[in-house]
Amino acid sequence: MSSPDHEPSAIEPAGAAIDPRLLAIRSFRGRYPRQLWWLFLAEMWERFCFYGMRGVLTVFMTEQLFMKEDEANLRYGAIQAFVYTMTFVGGFFADKILGFRRSIVWGGLLMMIGSFTIAWSPNELFYIGTSISIVGTGFFKPNISGVVGLLYHDEDHRRDAGFSLFYSGINVGALLGGLLCFRLGDTYGWEWAFISAGIAMICGVTVFSLTASSLGPLGYSPLHEPGQTPAQRTAATRRIQYVYVGSLVAIPLVLLLVSNSAYTDMFMYTVGPLALIYFVWEITRCTREEVQKLSAALVFIFFSIFFWAFFEQSGGSLALVARNHITPVQTLGMTIDPNEVNNSSNSLFVILLSPLIGLLFLSMKKREPNTVVKFGLGFLFLAGAFYIFHSLIFAASAKGESSLSLFTLAYLVITIGELCLSPIGLSAMTKLAPKRLFGIIMGLWFLASAYGQYVAGLLGAGMSEPSDTATSLEKLTAYTDGYLQLTYYAIYCGVALILISPFVRKLMREVS
Ligand code: GLN
Repeated sequence: MSSPDHEPSAIEPAGAAIDPRLLAIRSFRGRYPRQLWWLFLAEMWERFCFYGMRGVLTVFMTEQLFMKEDEANLRYGAIQAFVYTMTFVGGFFADKILGFRRSIVWGGLLMMIGSFTIAWSPNELFYIGTSISIVGTGFFKPNISGVVGLLYHDEDHRRDAGFSLFYSGINVGALLGGLLCFRLGDTYGWEWAFISAGIAMICGVTVFSLTASSLGPLGYSPLHEPGQTPAQRTAATRRIQYVYVGSLVAIPLVLLLVSNSAYTDMFMYTVGPLALIYFVWEITRCTREEVQKLSAALVFIFFSIFFWAFFEQSGGSLALVARNHITPVQTLGMTIDPNEVNNSSNSLFVILLSPLIGLLFLSMKKREPNTVVKFGLGFLFLAGAFYIFHSLIFAASAKGESSLSLFTLAYLVITIGELCLSPIGLSAMTKLAPKRLFGIIMGLWFLASAYGQYVAGLLGAGMSEPSDTATSLEKLTAYTDGYLQLTYYAIYCGVALILISPFVRKLMREVS
């Protein structure tokens, strides 16, 4: 039997497995492969761009495009949902045609062009620039994580540590982008937010391109194999070009879908069921053990939709709460802007807490909770955080302004919840899926985020007070009442997960 490392796959042709450069990469000494640091940096810039734009979206839409708050929440949800749906598409094409390298560079270039397009004329070109960025993120985001996975032998126990370092890279970028883009945009004009996002992408693409040679044979198109005839090579190159052209053609389509709520709804109602049908078709070709593990993965994917729907209030309704209902704090001669706290505290807490939480779980040894219970705990922390967001109303003045400390505390608690679910969920997907379904399972994991984002927008819009004559306090009350509802729903999900944990664990078999 061939060793798992010699198993051929679409992204890693059989010949590549015995390539001495690949063996050298995978037999690295120490905790992390050196390539991981380059990927960390490239992803850091990409997340700078993504979270920088995300952090200004709703405020920009209400203040610059003069949208009502419910409309801005819906648009925010739709934009984010499309971003994550495109990661499903981008992952699929990387696996089958482009390979990771081309996908990352192509995605990065599109994100750069998208950001500069909006910066050129924020009011007129907002949707078209956003659509370009959506398609670009789809090609970049899932595939850079894919490269991280390729740096390890199948049985290398250092993989989780690698993903956790990579998750910190994500959050360093998110922290800087969320902070800087908002500050520049708010102080000098919104175009500066988008210009800085574009510059971040120049850095990301440059870092990746300059260091890609360290990846040896990894990440090339599966269509280009050694020993091909010129005709075969030309045919492969043509298919690659079709994907580039196809992704450009997709931009106006995304523009149409994202700028029209009815189309967004239609799209979201069809794409999920279709992906699920495809997945079930794949499952029918699996062994009984694989079916059981994949069913467990589906449970995680299903619950993660709710998690992201609540969590992602941060770019939507919570951004508006921060803007309109939280009092800035003066300290050490500086003003702490609530939106900067909203955009960056989660990332800061991820960077600070993830090593601590890792150590905590390690120190629990045999008493370490299993993945299902960790997911359940993730929801309970989420519930705690939303109860604190609800409590903003108790600390509110008659003008509808509340406390920044309470707001920040909620972010601390929500981050603990995220760390119980997000990196752990990613790693669980890679453990529960057979290698040949790795792409589709990651695609479904991200698709769940897409649905979460979509529902986040609906929830945010449902919570906002649509009346123009409502007082500031009434508007805040509408949001905080909504957060109380979310608290209850998060508790239901957490308790449900903990109750079904023995059953799901059986499905997971040896995976804990
Ligand atoms: N914050 C993480 C990231 O940006 C996870 C996001 C998600 O899956 N919804 O990669």
